[in-house]
Amino acid sequence: MFMSREDHHTGGEMKNILSVDVEDWFHILRVSSTPRVEEWSKLEPRIERNFHFLLDQFDRNDAKATCFFLGWIGEKYSHLTRETAERGHEVACHGYGHQLIGTQTREQFRSDLRKAKDILEQAAGKQVRGYRAPGFSMKKETLWALEELVASGFEYDSSIFPTTRGHGGMAESDVFPHIISTPNGRIIEFPISVARLLGRKYCFFGGGYFRLSPYFLIRKMSRAVNLEGRPVIYYIHPREIDPSHPRLSMNLVRRFKSYVNLNTTTEKLNNLVKEQTLISFEKWLQENKTSTQWQNHEYSTAN
Ligand SMILES: [Zn+2]
Repeated sequence: MFMSREDHHTGGEMKNILSVDVEDWFHILRVSSTPRVEEWSKLEPRIERNFHFLLDQFDRNDAKATCFFLGWIGEKYSHLTRETAERGHEVACHGYGHQLIGTQTREQFRSDLRKAKDILEQAAGKQVRGYRAPGFSMKKETLWALEELVASGFEYDSSIFPTTRGHGGMAESDVFPHIISTPNGRIIEFPISVARLLGRKYCFFGGGYFRLSPYFLIRKMSRAVNLEGRPVIYYIHPREIDPSHPRLSMNLVRRFKSYVNLNTTTEKLNNLVKEQTLISFEKWLQENKTSTQWQNHEYSTAN
Protein backbone atom coordinates (compact mmCIF):
# COMPACT_ATOMS: atom_id res chain seq x y z
CA MET A 1 0.00 0.00 0.00
CA PHE A 2 1.15 3.51 -0.72
CA MET A 3 2.33 5.25 2.40
CA SER A 4 2.12 8.97 2.62
CA ARG A 5 4.94 11.06 3.98
CA GLU A 6 2.92 11.59 7.17
CA ASP A 7 2.64 7.84 7.80
CA HIS A 8 6.40 7.61 7.94
CA HIS A 9 6.57 10.34 10.50
CA THR A 10 4.05 9.20 13.07
CA GLY A 11 5.31 7.98 16.40
CA GLY A 12 7.33 11.08 17.18
CA GLU A 13 10.13 10.36 14.75
CA MET A 14 12.86 12.97 15.03
CA LYS A 15 13.57 15.60 12.44
CA ASN A 16 17.08 15.49 11.08
CA ILE A 17 19.26 18.22 9.63
CA LEU A 18 20.21 18.51 5.97
CA SER A 19 23.26 20.51 4.96
CA VAL A 20 25.07 21.23 1.69
CA ASP A 21 28.61 22.58 1.39
CA VAL A 22 28.18 24.72 -1.71
CA GLU A 23 31.43 24.43 -3.65
CA ASP A 24 32.59 23.00 -6.98
CA TRP A 25 34.48 19.85 -8.02
CA PHE A 26 37.88 21.57 -7.80
CA HIS A 27 37.47 22.45 -4.13
CA ILE A 28 38.60 19.08 -2.76
CA LEU A 29 41.12 19.81 -0.01
CA ARG A 30 44.48 18.44 1.01
CA VAL A 31 45.72 17.16 -2.32
CA SER A 32 48.70 18.71 -4.02
CA SER A 33 46.69 19.27 -7.20
CA THR A 34 44.05 21.43 -5.47
CA PRO A 35 44.08 24.57 -7.61
CA ARG A 36 44.74 27.96 -6.02
CA VAL A 37 41.97 30.52 -5.76
CA GLU A 38 43.40 32.58 -8.66
CA GLU A 39 42.92 29.59 -10.96
CA TRP A 40 39.34 28.72 -10.04
CA SER A 41 37.71 30.99 -12.62
CA LYS A 42 39.55 29.22 -15.45
CA LEU A 43 38.13 25.79 -14.59
CA GLU A 44 34.98 24.25 -16.00
CA PRO A 45 32.13 25.22 -13.67
CA ARG A 46 29.64 22.50 -12.68
CA ILE A 47 28.12 24.14 -9.65
CA GLU A 48 24.95 25.65 -11.12
CA ARG A 49 23.65 22.46 -12.66
CA ASN A 50 24.56 20.30 -9.66
CA PHE A 51 23.27 22.69 -7.02
CA HIS A 52 19.99 23.19 -8.89
CA PHE A 53 19.60 19.43 -9.11
CA LEU A 54 19.88 19.24 -5.31
CA LEU A 55 17.50 22.14 -4.65
CA ASP A 56 14.91 20.61 -6.99
CA GLN A 57 15.22 17.26 -5.25
CA PHE A 58 14.80 18.90 -1.84
CA ASP A 59 11.86 21.05 -2.92
CA ARG A 60 9.98 18.13 -4.48
CA ASN A 61 10.10 16.42 -1.09
CA ASP A 62 9.58 19.40 1.17
CA ALA A 63 13.06 19.10 2.64
CA LYS A 64 14.74 22.27 3.88
CA ALA A 65 18.52 22.53 3.87
CA THR A 66 21.22 24.74 5.30
CA CYS A 67 23.53 25.67 2.42
CA PHE A 68 27.06 26.57 3.56
CA PHE A 69 28.25 28.70 0.63
CA LEU A 70 31.86 29.44 -0.11
CA GLY A 71 32.07 33.23 -0.28
CA TRP A 72 33.80 32.79 -3.66
CA ILE A 73 30.74 30.96 -4.97
CA GLY A 74 28.42 33.56 -3.42
CA GLU A 75 30.35 36.32 -5.19
CA LYS A 76 30.51 34.68 -8.59
CA TYR A 77 27.02 33.19 -8.51
CA SER A 78 25.12 35.62 -6.31
CA HIS A 79 21.88 34.55 -8.02
CA LEU A 80 22.32 31.04 -6.56
CA THR A 81 22.62 32.46 -3.05
CA ARG A 82 19.57 34.65 -3.54
CA GLU A 83 17.59 31.78 -5.02
CA THR A 84 18.50 29.54 -2.07
CA ALA A 85 17.00 32.03 0.37
CA GLU A 86 13.97 32.64 -1.86
CA ARG A 87 13.24 28.92 -2.02
CA GLY A 88 13.15 28.79 1.78
CA HIS A 89 16.54 27.23 2.48
CA GLU A 90 19.08 28.70 4.86
CA VAL A 91 22.17 30.48 3.53
CA ALA A 92 25.19 29.92 5.77
CA CYS A 93 28.94 30.45 5.43
CA HIS A 94 31.79 28.10 4.43
CA GLY A 95 34.52 30.79 4.42
CA TYR A 96 35.65 32.66 1.29
CA GLY A 97 38.70 30.88 -0.09
CA HIS A 98 38.24 27.32 1.29
CA GLN A 99 41.27 27.43 3.55
CA LEU A 100 41.68 25.02 6.48
CA ILE A 101 41.54 26.94 9.76
CA GLY A 102 44.97 25.75 10.93
CA THR A 103 46.73 26.97 7.78
CA GLN A 104 45.67 30.58 8.45
CA THR A 105 46.70 33.13 11.03
CA ARG A 106 43.92 34.43 13.22
CA GLU A 107 43.88 37.68 11.21
CA GLN A 108 43.69 35.83 7.90
CA PHE A 109 40.86 33.68 9.22
CA ARG A 110 38.98 36.77 10.38
CA SER A 111 39.27 38.63 7.09
CA ASP A 112 38.32 35.53 5.03
CA LEU A 113 35.32 34.97 7.30
CA ARG A 114 34.06 38.55 7.24
CA LYS A 115 34.52 38.89 3.50
CA ALA A 116 32.42 35.75 2.95
CA LYS A 117 29.73 36.76 5.46
CA ASP A 118 29.31 40.19 3.85
CA ILE A 119 29.05 38.76 0.34
CA LEU A 120 26.52 36.13 1.39
CA GLU A 121 24.35 38.49 3.42
CA GLN A 122 24.25 40.95 0.52
CA ALA A 123 23.26 38.25 -1.93
CA ALA A 124 20.74 36.50 0.33
CA GLY A 125 19.31 39.70 1.79
CA LYS A 126 19.32 37.99 5.18
CA GLN A 127 21.54 37.60 8.19
CA VAL A 128 23.96 34.66 8.02
CA ARG A 129 24.00 32.81 11.34
CA GLY A 130 25.90 29.58 10.73
CA TYR A 131 29.44 28.59 9.79
CA ARG A 132 31.16 25.41 8.68
CA ALA A 133 34.93 25.25 8.38
CA PRO A 134 36.46 23.83 5.21
CA GLY A 135 37.44 20.21 5.83
CA PHE A 136 35.72 20.26 9.28
CA SER A 137 39.02 21.69 10.44
CA MET A 138 37.95 22.97 13.87
CA LYS A 139 40.35 21.41 16.38
CA LYS A 140 41.49 21.86 19.92
CA GLU A 141 44.39 24.05 18.73
CA THR A 142 42.09 26.25 16.65
CA LEU A 143 39.28 26.93 19.13
CA TRP A 144 40.19 30.63 18.84
CA ALA A 145 38.24 30.41 15.60
CA LEU A 146 35.05 30.02 17.67
CA GLU A 147 35.86 33.32 19.41
CA GLU A 148 36.20 34.92 15.97
CA LEU A 149 32.87 33.47 14.90
CA VAL A 150 31.11 34.98 17.92
CA ALA A 151 32.85 38.33 17.33
CA SER A 152 31.64 38.31 13.71
CA GLY A 153 28.04 37.68 14.71
CA PHE A 154 27.71 33.95 14.08
CA GLU A 155 25.29 32.06 16.31
CA TYR A 156 26.23 28.49 15.50
CA ASP A 157 29.03 26.40 14.08
CA SER A 158 29.06 22.92 12.54
CA SER A 159 32.76 22.28 12.04
CA ILE A 160 33.78 19.73 14.67
CA PHE A 161 34.32 16.15 13.54
CA PRO A 162 34.00 14.35 16.89
CA THR A 163 36.21 11.35 16.19
CA THR A 164 39.72 10.68 14.97
CA ARG A 165 40.18 10.89 11.22
CA GLY A 166 43.02 11.05 8.73
CA HIS A 167 43.50 14.76 9.31
CA GLY A 168 42.74 15.59 12.91
CA GLY A 169 39.16 15.60 14.11
CA MET A 170 38.32 16.24 17.74
CA ALA A 171 37.67 12.89 19.41
CA GLU A 172 37.12 14.47 22.83
CA SER A 173 34.18 16.60 21.66
CA ASP A 174 30.65 15.98 22.94
CA VAL A 175 28.66 14.33 20.14
CA PHE A 176 25.43 16.18 21.04
CA PRO A 177 24.64 19.69 19.85
CA HIS A 178 26.09 21.82 22.65
CA ILE A 179 27.00 25.30 23.77
CA ILE A 180 30.57 26.55 23.88
CA SER A 181 31.34 29.66 25.87
CA THR A 182 34.22 31.81 24.64
CA PRO A 183 35.68 35.07 25.97
CA ASN A 184 33.54 36.83 23.31
CA GLY A 185 30.27 35.06 24.19
CA ARG A 186 28.50 31.80 23.54
CA ILE A 187 28.09 29.82 20.35
CA ILE A 188 26.13 26.67 19.58
CA GLU A 189 28.15 23.79 18.17
CA PHE A 190 26.63 21.04 16.03
CA PRO A 191 29.32 18.38 15.71
CA ILE A 192 29.12 16.18 12.63
CA SER A 193 27.03 13.10 13.44
CA VAL A 194 28.84 9.90 14.28
CA ALA A 195 27.47 6.46 15.18
CA ARG A 196 29.20 3.47 16.70
CA LEU A 197 29.87 0.35 14.68
CA LEU A 198 32.05 -2.44 16.09
CA GLY A 199 33.31 -0.16 18.83
CA ARG A 200 34.38 2.71 16.60
CA LYS A 201 32.70 5.99 15.72
CA TYR A 202 32.01 6.65 12.04
CA CYS A 203 30.11 9.28 10.13
CA PHE A 204 27.73 7.46 7.80
CA PHE A 205 25.90 10.66 6.98
CA GLY A 206 28.12 12.43 4.48
CA GLY A 207 31.33 12.07 2.50
CA GLY A 208 33.07 8.76 1.80
CA TYR A 209 31.13 6.56 4.26
CA PHE A 210 27.81 7.85 2.94
CA ARG A 211 28.85 6.92 -0.58
CA LEU A 212 30.37 3.61 0.49
CA SER A 213 27.60 2.40 2.83
CA PRO A 214 24.47 0.67 1.55
CA TYR A 215 21.31 2.65 2.22
CA PHE A 216 19.94 0.20 4.81
CA LEU A 217 23.06 0.74 6.93
CA ILE A 218 22.75 4.54 6.71
CA ARG A 219 19.14 4.25 7.80
CA LYS A 220 19.99 1.87 10.66
CA MET A 221 22.76 4.16 11.90
CA SER A 222 20.55 7.23 11.64
CA ARG A 223 17.95 5.51 13.84
CA ALA A 224 20.66 4.68 16.36
CA VAL A 225 21.65 8.35 16.52
CA ASN A 226 18.01 9.43 16.93
CA LEU A 227 17.47 6.84 19.68
CA GLU A 228 20.18 8.62 21.66
CA GLY A 229 18.14 11.82 21.31
CA ARG A 230 20.45 13.44 18.75
CA PRO A 231 19.40 14.77 15.35
CA VAL A 232 21.41 13.37 12.44
CA ILE A 233 23.32 16.00 10.50
CA TYR A 234 23.62 14.98 6.85
CA TYR A 235 26.09 16.75 4.60
CA ILE A 236 26.48 16.66 0.85
CA HIS A 237 28.56 18.40 -1.80
CA PRO A 238 27.01 19.26 -5.19
CA ARG A 239 29.87 17.40 -6.97
CA GLU A 240 28.78 14.16 -5.27
CA ILE A 241 25.67 13.83 -7.45
CA ASP A 242 27.73 14.41 -10.62
CA PRO A 243 29.69 11.21 -11.40
CA SER A 244 31.10 12.65 -14.63
CA HIS A 245 32.75 15.73 -13.15
CA PRO A 246 36.44 16.27 -14.00
CA ARG A 247 38.89 14.70 -11.54
CA LEU A 248 41.83 16.22 -9.70
CA SER A 249 44.95 14.10 -9.74
CA MET A 250 45.74 12.46 -6.40
CA ASN A 251 47.08 9.25 -4.90
CA LEU A 252 45.04 6.03 -4.91
CA VAL A 253 43.80 6.27 -1.32
CA ARG A 254 42.58 9.83 -1.75
CA ARG A 255 41.14 8.99 -5.14
CA PHE A 256 39.11 6.21 -3.53
CA LYS A 257 37.91 8.41 -0.66
CA SER A 258 37.02 11.32 -2.93
CA TYR A 259 35.38 9.52 -5.80
CA VAL A 260 34.10 6.10 -4.67
CA ASN A 261 30.45 5.36 -5.46
CA LEU A 262 29.53 8.82 -6.74
CA ASN A 263 26.85 7.15 -8.83
CA THR A 264 24.99 5.96 -5.70
CA THR A 265 24.54 9.36 -4.05
CA THR A 266 21.47 10.55 -5.93
CA GLU A 267 19.44 7.46 -5.12
CA LYS A 268 20.42 7.40 -1.43
CA LEU A 269 19.65 11.06 -1.09
CA ASN A 270 16.34 10.52 -2.80
CA ASN A 271 15.44 7.77 -0.31
CA LEU A 272 16.47 10.02 2.54
CA VAL A 273 14.43 13.05 1.57
CA LYS A 274 11.40 10.82 1.04
CA GLU A 275 11.64 8.86 4.27
CA GLN A 276 12.87 11.42 6.77
CA THR A 277 11.80 14.91 7.70
CA LEU A 278 14.86 17.01 6.93
CA ILE A 279 15.19 20.61 8.04
CA SER A 280 17.79 23.36 8.22
CA PHE A 281 19.86 24.23 11.31
CA GLU A 282 17.91 27.49 11.57
CA LYS A 283 14.60 25.62 11.68
CA TRP A 284 15.96 23.04 14.14
CA LEU A 285 17.07 25.82 16.47
CA GLN A 286 13.67 27.49 16.28
CA GLU A 287 11.92 24.23 17.10
CA ASN A 288 14.28 23.24 19.89
CA LYS A 289 14.68 26.62 21.55
CA THR A 290 13.15 25.43 24.81
CA SER A 291 14.66 21.95 24.89
CA THR A 292 17.04 21.55 27.79
CA GLN A 293 18.37 18.24 26.53
CA TRP A 294 21.12 19.88 24.52
CA GLN A 295 21.37 23.24 26.26
CA ASN A 296 22.62 21.54 29.41
CA HIS A 297 25.71 20.53 27.49
CA GLU A 298 27.97 23.54 27.94
CA TYR A 299 31.74 23.83 27.62
CA SER A 300 34.30 26.58 27.61
CA THR A 301 37.16 27.22 25.22
CA ALA A 302 39.20 28.11 28.29
CA ASN A 303 39.31 24.46 29.45
ZN1 LIG B 1 34.31 22.48 1.67
